[in-house]
Amino acid sequence: MIVEAERWFKLGDVKEAPILGWDKSDKRLCFYCGKSFAKHGRCETLEVYYVVCPGDYIIKDVEGEFCPCKPDIFEEIYEKL
Ligand SMILES: [Zn+2]
Repeated sequence: MIVEAERWFKLGDVKEAPILGWDKSDKRLCFYCGKSFAKHGRCETLEVYYVVCPGDYIIKDVEGEFCPCKPDIFEEIYEKL
């Protein structure tokens, strides 16, 4: 399967994807990456939203939906064309 993916590091990256900035006053630390939530993004889909960690890959699926994926998992599943 071929997917399109781009890495997201900060607001404004992966322009095509509906990623909003996280609440800047949120001082909690992310369970996955240990960074402050203020540095994260929110990827909105119709029913749910995903937390996007800095450095996550944003995958565009065949239906045009975007889904974040942790880099270690991504690199295990996919290889670069
Ligand atoms: Zn994180």
